[in-house]
Amino acid sequence: MSEPLVLIMPQQPDNANGGKKKSRIGWIYIAMLAILFLPYLSRFFSSGNPRQIIWNEFENKILSRNAADSIDVVNNEVAQVYIKKAFAEDPYFKPVLKPRPGGDIEPGPHYAFNIGSVETLERKLDEAQRALPAEQRVKVTYTKRPNMLINILSWVVPLAFLFFFFRTLAKGGGGMGMGGASPFSFGNSTATLQKGADRSPVSFKDVAGLEEAKQEVMEVVDFLKDPGMYTKLGAKIPRGVIIIGPPGTGKTLLAKAVAGEAGVPFFSLSGSEFVEMFVGIGASRVRDLFRRAKEEAPCIIFIDEIDAVGRSRGKGAFFAGANDERENTLNQLLTEMDGFSTNSGVIVLAATNRADMLDAALLRPGRFDRRIYLELPDLVEREAIFNVHLRPLRQAEVPVDVHFLASQTPGFSGADIANICNEAALFAARRKSEKVEKKDFLEAIDRIVAGLEKRSKIISPEEKKIIAFHEAGHAVASWFLKRVDPLIKVSIIPRGKSLGAAWYLPEERQLKTAGEFTENLCAALGGRAAEELIFGEISSGALDDLEKATKEAYSMVAYYGFDKKIGPVSFYDSGGNQEAGFQKPYSEETGKLIDEEVRKLVEDAYRQTIGLLEEHKAELTRLAELLLQKETVFKEDLEAVLGVRRA
Ligand code: ATP
Repeated sequence: MSEPLVLIMPQQPDNANGGKKKSRIGWIYIAMLAILFLPYLSRFFSSGNPRQIIWNEFENKILSRNAADSIDVVNNEVAQVYIKKAFAEDPYFKPVLKPRPGGDIEPGPHYAFNIGSVETLERKLDEAQRALPAEQRVKVTYTKRPNMLINILSWVVPLAFLFFFFRTLAKGGGGMGMGGASPFSFGNSTATLQKGADRSPVSFKDVAGLEEAKQEVMEVVDFLKDPGMYTKLGAKIPRGVIIIGPPGTGKTLLAKAVAGEAGVPFFSLSGSEFVEMFVGIGASRVRDLFRRAKEEAPCIIFIDEIDAVGRSRGKGAFFAGANDERENTLNQLLTEMDGFSTNSGVIVLAATNRADMLDAALLRPGRFDRRIYLELPDLVEREAIFNVHLRPLRQAEVPVDVHFLASQTPGFSGADIANICNEAALFAARRKSEKVEKKDFLEAIDRIVAGLEKRSKIISPEEKKIIAFHEAGHAVASWFLKRVDPLIKVSIIPRGKSLGAAWYLPEERQLKTAGEFTENLCAALGGRAAEELIFGEISSGALDDLEKATKEAYSMVAYYGFDKKIGPVSFYDSGGNQEAGFQKPYSEETGKLIDEEVRKLVEDAYRQTIGLLEEHKAELTRLAELLLQKETVFKEDLEAVLGVRRA
């Protein structure tokens, strides 16, 4: 696909002889045009230049003297008159006929006049020659002769248009493979190449935590730089490393740091850049990418979001055809990764958060030999990430306690933490403060968890009361259920979509027991239960809670095997096949049973919560009143109303 570009684009002249070269090219164009026009021009000039006259002159000076040999009516518009040789020496005709010594005259046409219409001409001729016998009358012929100029323009203009159109397109191509606008570069890879001075400014010190991952990727760079050290021991250099992890855990950042530290050329692109609506473009781009990479070896290719192209083949077969292009691209990628020899000095680095969707062939050793799993950061790692992102912030004299921030943000990814630091700075700026303070960070955390405060939302006093009891219901239920995460704050100020919120501090644990699941279910239903208990009527405010509780209950029954009737079976699909299919992996009967068991589970939890709140109705009312008064209550207030929580 890329070759025509080279042929069509005229080389750009360099400065030294650019002018000369340009003028030479200009002359070539003129010569080419002249050659094309020559036959037409010669015909144009050789067709003679008849003297223009009008009908009266023709009738009086030519026709009346019977001097016209013939008339040729061209295109039903012009009558071209040929004069008899016998009139060569006539003083009227002589200047036009230009007689030559041998009795020859100009071939003609000698005179021309506009006829108006053929009928008019014929009528006038008839009238003028009525007295003459038929054989002596002037011969009239009719010729269709295309207009020379229009004829020429009709093919020259489109040709010239096409010529300039393609020239402009070819020029728009920009650098080879740099994603230029030229359609000729469609098949070229759009990867950006960083090398030498313009390499990535990110280094490993910008990546907090992820020590094992850093070590692994750095080892890959060492392979590239000094392959001998490994090959002499008989080791094969890995061809690919895939970084797998949830969104925002630093996969792209890690790759950027590799680019900054490696000191080898680094191609980076996103998997989606292979995917185009045109058939064959993806495969062509893969080929082009690897060709360019081999030229730059030793080097690294980084493909972000590789799932866009590496999705398992055959998935989504219901929509056959739509995936053909992606499959072709994937096949080409598989071939290329197999195609270069182990020591060719090109290593492919890829990142994805959907490893379950990837084609098995892509993941097998020999292609992506190494897999690096990134997890959401733990407490220590979050602290390190906070330290990286706090660096550019201007903090108060007493800097914020990083350990405290890290402890307040379990389950947050590196991207969330970067966002918190930025939001905190924005909050400080909104306060017109010179320094970022602890309260800005807390506000930023709240904002990220629950959305921005919307104090301006209009809420009636009755609604406010319902919201206060709803939130108090969550708080009381979770306070007296020992295994629910500790509650740190409750608020009835609307935030984002919600009208109130309760903040918990999840503990960092890897396992959750069936009992803990049930207690969480109860805490989630606390709001609805309080509404029923206090007002005897339920509201629409429990939508999010019910959704959460239902999902949790389904996962308990269908995934974790907690339900006695369903038994220790799991219909969880780690391969992601279920998404593509319409069929459930269980029978209709089992489906019904799952639904029944889920409903029972949620109803039991609801009943249990009602019982719990009935038992603590006095505390519930007191807390709701405090909420109505203060709008936001903290752990200390909760302890004052509900007593110290038993561990
Ligand atoms: P996605 O899968 O959504 O593409 P990702 O894993 O590639 O996400 P990155 O783009 O690498 O995530 O991270 C986003 C931002 O989060 C980074 O620009 C950086 O500011 C911050 N970040 C993530 N992890 C770390 C870390 N370990 N150290 C410092 N900053 C981090």
